[in-house]
Amino acid sequence: MKRRKIYHARLMYARPFIDSLDFARNGRKISGEVRLAELPRLLDILENPQGILSYTVQGGVDKQGNSFLDVGVVGLCRLRCQRCLNGLDYPVRLDTRLLLRDQTGLDALDDIVAGGEEEEFDSILADTHLNVLDMLEEEILLSLPIAPKHEAGACQAADGKNAQREEKSPFAVLAKLKSN
Ligand SMILES: [Zn+2]
Repeated sequence: MKRRKIYHARLMYARPFIDSLDFARNGRKISGEVRLAELPRLLDILENPQGILSYTVQGGVDKQGNSFLDVGVVGLCRLRCQRCLNGLDYPVRLDTRLLLRDQTGLDALDDIVAGGEEEEFDSILADTHLNVLDMLEEEILLSLPIAPKHEAGACQAADGKNAQREEKSPFAVLAKLKSN
């Protein structure tokens, strides 16, 4: 019995899951750290897999009765400058509220968005077994710049010379990963 408990605790540490609605309604909170190396989709766009992000997820219910998760992530990651393809330190500072909705609610929301109205907060599907790290990864991905670039002056690319290099950047990324 005791053994089983320890195993469970370890599992929870590695990949936290929450019953999102229950978590929100009871105002629960979890926080922890995750290595960038554990976030495969994020890793795809990073110049370097090293680094750790700290996160907090706080559940709650707003005045309108909507269950939500307040998600905070802080840390540093290394993106790839789209001009010179070198590393670019990028501070991750995520602080966002996600409303929890069932599928019907999400579908209704699609209609609203299609009608051109903007929602104040993003919504995600309420899930009894929400993978917290997957959710964080998604939110971080959405928050990152699509084409990160060094400030003018800090960039090593000479103007106009990099068009060809940019084209083969995915392979350059792979080659670099393999040689490390
Ligand atoms: Zn650059």
